[in-house]
Amino acid sequence: MATNLTLQQRKQAVFANGQGNLYPVYVSHAKNAEMWDVEGNRYLDFGTGIAVCNTGHAHPKIVKAVNDQMEKFSHSCVMVNPYESAVELAEKLTQLAPGDSPKKAMFVTTGAEAVENAVKIARAHTGRRGVIAFNGGFHGRTNLTMGLTGKITPYKDFFGPFPGEIYHAPFPNPLHGITAEQSLAALAMLMKVDISPKDVAAIIIEPIQGEGGFYVAPPEFLKALRALCDEHGIMLICDEIQSGFARTGHMFYTEAADIEPDLMTMAKGIAGGIPISAVVGKANVMDTAPVGGLGGTYGGSPLGCAAAVAVLDVIKEEKLAERATMIEGRFYETLNALKAKYPKVIAEVRGHGAMIALELMSEGDPAVPNPALTKAVIGKALDYGLILLACGFYGNVIRFLPPLTIPETHLREGLDQFTALFDEV
Ligand code: PLP
Repeated sequence: MATNLTLQQRKQAVFANGQGNLYPVYVSHAKNAEMWDVEGNRYLDFGTGIAVCNTGHAHPKIVKAVNDQMEKFSHSCVMVNPYESAVELAEKLTQLAPGDSPKKAMFVTTGAEAVENAVKIARAHTGRRGVIAFNGGFHGRTNLTMGLTGKITPYKDFFGPFPGEIYHAPFPNPLHGITAEQSLAALAMLMKVDISPKDVAAIIIEPIQGEGGFYVAPPEFLKALRALCDEHGIMLICDEIQSGFARTGHMFYTEAADIEPDLMTMAKGIAGGIPISAVVGKANVMDTAPVGGLGGTYGGSPLGCAAAVAVLDVIKEEKLAERATMIEGRFYETLNALKAKYPKVIAEVRGHGAMIALELMSEGDPAVPNPALTKAVIGKALDYGLILLACGFYGNVIRFLPPLTIPETHLREGLDQFTALFDEV
């Protein structure tokens, strides 16, 4: 019988280091928030495959939708012989995207591809080339999206050169000394010194940074970005790949700022694990690219569309945005109590809905990030049967991303485990 150890040895022999795994836990099966490894050990999954299984593992409605689709036909490129589920998904997403302007959608397969296509569309629409992204942001591992990504290690070391015409501005981060006003001032300076606003095609932002550390862009900051883009004819792209699909208590976090982006990128939670991603944006902007200029063989595959339509139904029927808000309350209660107990090492509890983070600093110097403690906590959590992930520029942030469908008993169990294990490290 395969064990975690034998699988780890086999994997190390044949897998490239760059796709190495963080934990030697090999999944056998999973149901909603519970996961079992090949040795029969049970875990609570508070990482959901990096914010993918918002609707839990193996949700019966989504399993049925995918099985039914597979029995009907497994593939037919949406650009060649389209199918109803693709049209239905586009209808639903264009309705759900924030703002009143008529919208259109397009589908690809991964988050990075969605970002690439959003930039292509912004460039085609404006006839400009410059793109401004934010420090600490993450947009993917393809060449263009690596260029946009603001975190160097491990995403960019060794992999350049990156495409030109990409600029970075500071993301508001009061904990680390950057106010929203300072961030806006730096952006204004960038557009004075490095690139003229009339050459900027797009500003791309994660309304809540994901890999960067769950820093939340204040609504007034997003409103100011919208105004800046309107003033200069720049496309505002909101990357909601990690924060979308009810994860934050909103269908998309952009809604919290009450602004309408020109383009939005979506992936991860969209289809509960079947790879599909989307760009949704203002119809006049989306239509600028020529026929055949966007998409790809698997973009909007029948399996992805069937799963995504089922996910959207589940989010609505099971009121998952409201559940995310309930989950947020439970996390803040538990983690704030822990912060009161360990005020020197827990610098901040932040986030919205079921996208919550704990930032850890060094006991001796509260200004120094503590990735070692973060690693130790995540390792100890595995002993307790709790799957957690790290994030943040310095790797010193623990992120909590449970399924929005998690039963209250499992939520309580995971939070109690976390409190107990934190006392031990
Ligand atoms: N954008 C954001 C905000 C993300 O969090 C991610 C992945 O973590 C991506 C883009 C890239 O998505 P993918 O890994 O599917 O290419």
